[in-house]
Amino acid sequence: MSHPLDGRHHSVLVIGGGQAGLSMSYCLRARGIDHLVLERDEVGHEWRDRRWDMFCLVTPNWQCQLPGFPYRGGDPEGFMGRAEIVSYVQEYARTFGLPVVEGVGATRLRVTPHGFLVRTSQGDLTADQVVVATGPYQVPLIPRMTERLPESLVQLHSSQYRNPGQLPAGEVLVVGTGQSGCQIAEDLHLAGRRVHLSVGSAPRVARRYRGRDVVAWLDEMGYYRRGIDEFADADAVRFRANHYVTGRDGGHDIDLRAFALEGMRLYGRLSGIDSGFLRFRPDLRKNLDAADAVSEGIKSSIDAYIAEQRIGAPAEERYTPVWEPDADPAELSLSDSGITSVVWSTGFGRDHRWIDVPIFDGRGYPTHDRGVTSCEGLYFLGLPWQYTWGSGRFCGVAADAEFLASRIELLYRGGKSHEVRWLAGVPRGSYENDDWVAPRTVA
Ligand SMILES: Cc1cc2nc3c(=O)[nH]c(=O)nc-3n(C[C@H](O)[C@H](O)[C@H](O)COP(=O)(O)OP(=O)(O)OC[C@H]3O[C@@H](n4cnc5c(N)ncnc54)[C@H](O)[C@@H]3O)c2cc1C
Repeated sequence: MSHPLDGRHHSVLVIGGGQAGLSMSYCLRARGIDHLVLERDEVGHEWRDRRWDMFCLVTPNWQCQLPGFPYRGGDPEGFMGRAEIVSYVQEYARTFGLPVVEGVGATRLRVTPHGFLVRTSQGDLTADQVVVATGPYQVPLIPRMTERLPESLVQLHSSQYRNPGQLPAGEVLVVGTGQSGCQIAEDLHLAGRRVHLSVGSAPRVARRYRGRDVVAWLDEMGYYRRGIDEFADADAVRFRANHYVTGRDGGHDIDLRAFALEGMRLYGRLSGIDSGFLRFRPDLRKNLDAADAVSEGIKSSIDAYIAEQRIGAPAEERYTPVWEPDADPAELSLSDSGITSVVWSTGFGRDHRWIDVPIFDGRGYPTHDRGVTSCEGLYFLGLPWQYTWGSGRFCGVAADAEFLASRIELLYRGGKSHEVRWLAGVPRGSYENDDWVAPRTVA
């Protein structure tokens, strides 16, 4: 028996029921545009299933500004934990009765001369327009050098890490110092585990400065409203690592030097594994200095803003390093170290191979302008820095969803007739598919 979805046609299909897909749905609903959101798992599952137990937002709760659904809890300056975030996202879908179908994954997206064909785990659907909102952090990335570690070591990606008790007794190697790596290293450190941390080049930011959360200052200074087109090198902005800081226990700085004083072992970037040794680049000192320099630079821009606006903010001493490495450690013997597990906090990649439309660049990144691709009617939402800093976050997705909704509405009201147009010429072979299934019913 075929699934009730099979063969249906919608004006718009939204793929992915995370905060981006739901925001899109809210904005389409507000414009009276018929649509369906396909979610292959459950609403909120990214937050529920791919974050650790003590996970907290690093952005303050007041920045949770989903369209029509700003944070209404009692702690706007605080940082929601994992369960609260899941509730916030699920409540969003429930409150507005958004048309989400859970447990249905899109497995293929093709263009036909008559519209978009979306193959799903429950049959084929067609649509005049499609929004891909499948998340900014899709595929866990682990370097292949992992294969050179002894089988006896337990290895996890940060998205699989839950708590210290999940790891065998012994010392832990954490690789990577983006937000996940730093927060997981802290989680283990606070639980009394000896952590060896391979420090990369991610920058850091202070939690508070001159009487306020740094996010509040940057928000007031307009930083989060700056569009990607204001930056000379958009790629450098889009693909750089996030600043590390935490919202845990009310929020505080993450100072790796302070951890080192308390016994955490710091190394430079992991460059190789051989003969039972971990090898590190000689860049620990450089990486720590660079992270501090970014944090202090942000403070300088806040100082300048305070002076310019004549704001009566309290003065604050600048950071002075509390620890310096004696030397850049070059290697570590696995057998001598007592390391029994490794948490790879080495980030995420994208997987858009299921999208059979020629809109990608050489890295598999979708080429787009504010989420609008060169294939008319095909959009992306929720990409990091899609347009602003907040695009891939709770604070900026509303503006992007509104922008796309207005573009979608133009085509919708203009009487789009299942015909896909290419904004920059028809790519070769783009219609050469043989499995077009004509819609049987129109929703
Ligand atoms: C460790 C970490 C910390 C973060 N901290 C913050 C923070 O403090 N503040 C903040 O604002 N942001 C934060 N973010 C960034 C961002 O808010 C989250 O990544 C958020 O989950 C992005 O929402 P999304 O809807 O774009 O994607 P997701 O939440 O990833 O949702 C995408 C959905 O699409 C579904 N899906 C994927 N492929 C398909 C398919 N083919 N068919 C159907 N469904 C599909 C998935 O099941 C998923 O539910 C953090 C991200 C990470 C990884």
